[in-house]
Amino acid sequence: MTHSVAHALSERSRTIADRVEAFVREVVIPYEHDPRCGPHGPDEAMVRELRAKARAAGVMTPHILNDGGHLSQLETALVLKRSGLSILGPVAVNTAAPDEGNMYLLGEIGTEAQKRRFLAPLVSGEARSAFFMTEPADEGGAGSDPSMLKTTAERRGGGWIVNGRKAFITGAMGASVGIVMARTGSAETTRSTMFLVELPNPAIRIERVLDTIDSSMPGGHAIVVIDGLTVADDQVLGEVDEGFRYAQIRLSPARLSHCMRWHGAATRAQEIATAYATRRKAFGKLLIEHEGVGFMLADNLIDLKQAELMIDWCATVLDGGSLGTSESSMTKVAVSDALFRIADRCVQVMGGSGVSRDTMVEQVFREVRAFRIYDGPTEVHKWSLAKKIKRDALGGGKA
Ligand SMILES: Cc1cc2nc3c(=O)[nH]c(=O)nc-3n(C[C@H](O)[C@H](O)[C@H](O)COP(=O)(O)OP(=O)(O)OC[C@H]3O[C@@H](n4cnc5c(N)ncnc54)[C@H](O)[C@@H]3O)c2cc1C
Repeated sequence: MTHSVAHALSERSRTIADRVEAFVREVVIPYEHDPRCGPHGPDEAMVRELRAKARAAGVMTPHILNDGGHLSQLETALVLKRSGLSILGPVAVNTAAPDEGNMYLLGEIGTEAQKRRFLAPLVSGEARSAFFMTEPADEGGAGSDPSMLKTTAERRGGGWIVNGRKAFITGAMGASVGIVMARTGSAETTRSTMFLVELPNPAIRIERVLDTIDSSMPGGHAIVVIDGLTVADDQVLGEVDEGFRYAQIRLSPARLSHCMRWHGAATRAQEIATAYATRRKAFGKLLIEHEGVGFMLADNLIDLKQAELMIDWCATVLDGGSLGTSESSMTKVAVSDALFRIADRCVQVMGGSGVSRDTMVEQVFREVRAFRIYDGPTEVHKWSLAKKIKRDALGGGKA
């Protein structure tokens, strides 16, 4: 990329990011205490209201351009960090998970007909989506190890019939589009296929919505029963038996975009904690003048900058056309751990106020705790990095 092209791109993303930030600060933040934000995220009426305002302000789905093109990952980082300045920001401007990752995957591998049918309503923000991969742990289903997938898809007539149970499906309640991962291939080979479905569907029943530590994502996280779901061939996303490969295409950018959004939330938590420490006094001076507090805020600044640099580095790797598997693992581990430390220190700096729901600091702490588990728990990323280290050290032998 020439310098002038890169410069024009960064101008473009800066303009979009500034508009998103202004919208989030002026319009979205006042909604943070709205009673329609429940334990399973903002309700549907509130999502619609926020999105109508985002549309009117011209900041709906800001990372996807009018011609259908996608900002580069580096540009996306700038925009998504700003959208995360409020926990409600990503939902309002349609940069939230799982929609953002699902839109990316559909844009990459969907057919033109699938894009019209399933992607267009997502990009316009009229619909929400869900990604159905994980299965209940107590039934031995897929979790950290996707190859344990138990949900099956069998050829039946001109299409497929899918059966199984899924767990932790974010946004399944209220979604209009689903991407369902199911086992295909023979009993000996672990293969999977992704299927696109319209929701609600009588064969996809929400058993219950889990009560979890986090509470930002509309619809919460559901246990779902899939019972005799029929799917036509034109609803296969990409190629049959290639589901695990597509999951990899989705995963690196999706886990990176979580880093971006939560970086924005941690930045705001730091702003709130700094405001507290520069107005509240103890023992005759401002809290920030006590070294114990000042150092916590200083450590936050360092962690925020290191996290930003890792996000931008990984974004650049993805922009170069690589799958970025190792880079996104490293970034996800480093950033999720750093953001958790930041949120924890912000809570501490604010004393009792830090654990109250008067500010969003308490929620950022809960949200980033969950982030250390989804899109690959820290240990799974470290384990796969260790396998790569071993492979490289032993000259390409299989780990
Ligand atoms: C808030 C939230 C939202 C989610 N949304 C979705 C969604 O929309 N769609 C979806 O499909 N899934 C979703 N998930 C599921 C998520 O992807 C899984 O929780 C995750 O993959 C871990 O699987 P598991 O919970 O079954 O944990 P398990 O597989 O039981 O693992 C438990 C722990 O074991 C350890 N571990 C596992 N493997 C290794 C290893 N190789 N080395 C060292 N330690 C290891 C880790 O510490 C891990 O945390 C969501 C989860 C959460 C918490």
